[in-house]
Order: sequence, then C-alpha cells, then structure tokens
Amino acid sequence: MLCPKCGSENPNDSVFCVSCGEKMKEEANNKKLFMPLIIVSVLCVGLAVSTIVLAILYDNSLEAYQSLSQDYHTLADENENNARDKNYYKSYYDKKMREAEENRDGNALERLYEYADTHPLVE
Ligand SMILES: [Zn+2]
Repeated sequence: MLCPKCGSENPNDSVFCVSCGEKMKEEANNKKLFMPLIIVSVLCVGLAVSTIVLAILYDNSLEAYQSLSQDYHTLADENENNARDKNYYKSYYDKKMREAEENRDGNALERLYEYADTHPLVE
C-alpha cells in the first residue's frame, strides 16, 4: 500500500509509513472485514428464508395428511353405519317374512317379495 502523504510503498498491514511516519489509512483493513460480513449476512438471510419455506411446506403436507386421514375415518364410519342399517333391515325383513309364513298371509308375503325386488338392501 502507498502512503497517502509521501507516496512511498509500505507493507499492507502497516499502521504508520516507514518513510515519513504518517498514519496509514485503514481502508484496506476495513475492506478485509467487509467481505466476510457480507457472506455471513447472506448466509443468515438464506437460512432464515429456507427455514420459512420448509416450515410452510411441512405445514401444507401435514394439513393434506390430516385431511386425508379425516376423509378415511369418515368413510370408515359411513361404511360401518351402512352395514349396521343393512343388518337391521335384513333382520326386520326376515322377521316379517317368518310371521307371514307362519300366519299363511298371502298378501303380506306378496308385499314382502315386492319389497325385496325394489330394495337392494334385502338380499
Ligand atoms: Zn509516507
């Protein structure tokens, strides 16, 4: 580096000029500190941004999973209810059928057969 007063060449880390004793500018040292500071700042900002992005992505996938899980449970509950209803109607129909057969009630039997034809719940 050059002395700002006399212009003679000095080692880069000199504090005073070897020729005239003038205090050397600290610009070079400041520049050396500036670059690492920028790099650290960029890394910090990058880390913060990627953390936010990951948090958003994780939250979205969690929401999607919970929604899917909820749908599955709803569907399972509906199937269970349908099975229960089906068994209930089937046993009710069978009971009515037995009663009609025991009473030899032709009209009731006919109605029950018609009912079975139009209602898929009764197998
Ligand atoms: Zn000098």
